[in-house]
Amino acid sequence: MGKKIQKVNKKMNSKQFKVATFYKYIELNNLNELTEKIKEKCSEIKLMGTILLAEEGINGNIAGTREQLNEFKEFLESIPEFKEMVYRENFSECIPFKKASVRKRNEIVTLGLKEVNVKHRGRHISPQELKKMIQEKQEIVLLDARSNYETKIGKFKNAVTLNIENFREFPKKLNELNKFKEKKIVMYCTGGVKCEKASAYLKEKGFKNVFQLNGGIINYINQFPDSEFEGRCFVFDKRLSVPSGKKDSLISSCKICHKETAQYINCSNTKCDELFICCNECKEKFLETCSKKCRKELEKQETIKAKKEKIQMNKANLEKIELKKVKLKKIEMDVKAV
Ligand SMILES: [Zn+2]
Ligand SMILES: [Zn+2]
Repeated sequence: MGKKIQKVNKKMNSKQFKVATFYKYIELNNLNELTEKIKEKCSEIKLMGTILLAEEGINGNIAGTREQLNEFKEFLESIPEFKEMVYRENFSECIPFKKASVRKRNEIVTLGLKEVNVKHRGRHISPQELKKMIQEKQEIVLLDARSNYETKIGKFKNAVTLNIENFREFPKKLNELNKFKEKKIVMYCTGGVKCEKASAYLKEKGFKNVFQLNGGIINYINQFPDSEFEGRCFVFDKRLSVPSGKKDSLISSCKICHKETAQYINCSNTKCDELFICCNECKEKFLETCSKKCRKELEKQETIKAKKEKIQMNKANLEKIELKKVKLKKIEMDVKAV
């Protein structure tokens, strides 16, 4: 029995932090004041994360201990605009943010279309309802509203993905989506905030049967781990992705050697800077670059840098020698003067 408790404690320690995502579309009139107030609270309780505020609402990703999160939630609950907000949570071994960033923006997720009214959004369905639709093999189009770097490492089985670089490109895919206009569409994204807008956009464009997964992937994999969602779920913090269950299934592979992995890194050739999937071996072998070409470029940059440093060092040494010479001369002169 004692052993069992010890085991449980160990487990709790390794997952002692919580990461919470939340959003609410609500007209905010006192944006400056609210931003300042939230900023102050974050620094007071040392809460880390990213919180965006816009005239259309609030969108946040925060991390901390259970106590910190509870205090912050209580604080937001005391602001009338943010009452009854829903938080989607998962555990983390670390605080995956470097600081607290509370900022004002034009939109809480950038679609770039101010005229879309989220009041026209698609109907929410719960993870249970979606699971039932999938199990009953209902005729639905499961539409992933996220960008390609997200869908590459994880998505629902048989989902339609859009191959977009960022959410701003979603409206460009309207022509491609028109073939589903008469179908039943179920959209999903990470936590739900994008779908509110994207589903409203589709409905405004004449799509009638549009649904959205309430709470997004995070909500689904919390309730149904290791099931219809395959691979890992991309998240917007230092972790970059979280497993969709205990099995941690992978659907992605290393760009260089094609070994299964979901690890993202940025190409260290600063001229390239591509975010790409890379296994640990290739990361080491290719000096964290995405290709032979970039590794060559990096090595060239490094050699130039080393050469420059060498020249710089020689120059400094020369200056030192010169300085010594001057000193010596001075001493000589002093001696002569005596
Ligand atoms: Zn590799
Ligand atoms: Zn590169």
